[in-house]
Amino acid sequence: EVVLFTADENSNNVKQNVVEGSENVSEKELSVAQWIYSNGKKAGKFTDSLTSSDFVYYPLKNLRGTYGVAGLKIQNENFYRENETLIDNFMNQIAGAIERENLNQKANQALVLEESDKLYKTLFDSLSHELKTPIAAIMGSSNLLLNIKSESNKATKEQLYNEIHTASLRLNRLVENLLDMARLESGKLVPYFNLYEVNDLINSALKEFEVEKSKHEIIVSIPDKMPLLKFDFGLMEQVIKNLLQNALLYTQEDSKIEVKASFDEKLGYIIISDNGKGIPEQDIQNIFDKFYRVNNKIAGGTGLGLSISKGIVEALKGTISVENKTTGGLKFIIKLPLN
Ligand code: ADP
Repeated sequence: EVVLFTADENSNNVKQNVVEGSENVSEKELSVAQWIYSNGKKAGKFTDSLTSSDFVYYPLKNLRGTYGVAGLKIQNENFYRENETLIDNFMNQIAGAIERENLNQKANQALVLEESDKLYKTLFDSLSHELKTPIAAIMGSSNLLLNIKSESNKATKEQLYNEIHTASLRLNRLVENLLDMARLESGKLVPYFNLYEVNDLINSALKEFEVEKSKHEIIVSIPDKMPLLKFDFGLMEQVIKNLLQNALLYTQEDSKIEVKASFDEKLGYIIISDNGKGIPEQDIQNIFDKFYRVNNKIAGGTGLGLSISKGIVEALKGTISVENKTTGGLKFIIKLPLN
């Protein structure tokens, strides 16, 4: 029979962990276990101290600390003597295993803390910028519109309406990204698969960039025989919008952005590339990480867009990868199942 005790980290009092095949020990045995824990020495039956105990007790300890106490109920003293060294070794191994488990837990807690610290910082640094810019645009433009007296100022009005529209789309994308992130993290992202035309997907995503589009050249090429692909329309649209927004944001005015589709027997490919500066090679491996941003001078951004896009594409049983083009610029390759 084996009894196990572990200590509450804050009080240093041991309590019994009732394991299969063991029963609750008496108060007397518990106080013996407590003594072993406090003194860090083997004691109980067949030893030099506390010999009236039913069990022989071992502290589960190593050089760095004592993690608990284990007691063995052994009737036959000869059996005990013959196996003493073996039992000592077992106890050392158990102590080592508990220590490793404790350290793992602590490392995980530290990681969670570090992550939430990062999240907190991002919410304040980047999100506040991402929220403030479109809100300021909406406030400013709507205020001007309210104060425009003359009916004739049609062009100015149109520009202000456009600014409000663009800013609200930007806010909407941010909110959608944050919601997707929350869904991905909680495992609650349930894709609704169906077969769709890539053409519809690209056109629908492009609609959101009417204003930005005019400053760049966007070339879409989809083969006539392009088969339907299997995905969730809303989620995939979010991915394409993220990639297009990046291509528009991180490249110079007049840049050329290409959206291409192709296929083989098993997969459909959607390739979005630009002729901007690309990203430094050493950043390629981290670019899909949450909150990762390349050190550049462009303000704003949350570093979430690409990590969400990857999460979504993988939830849709596809893959996404990125490379710098040899001719300059960045190229994202999405592979999705045909059916
Ligand atoms: P965000 O745009 O909010 O910073 P993303 O996850 O969408 O976050 O992108 C991460 C980083 O990748 C960006 O900060 C940017 O530096 C870089 N990046 C993304 N797309 C491009 C692109 N087409 N050209 C150059 N750099 C890009």
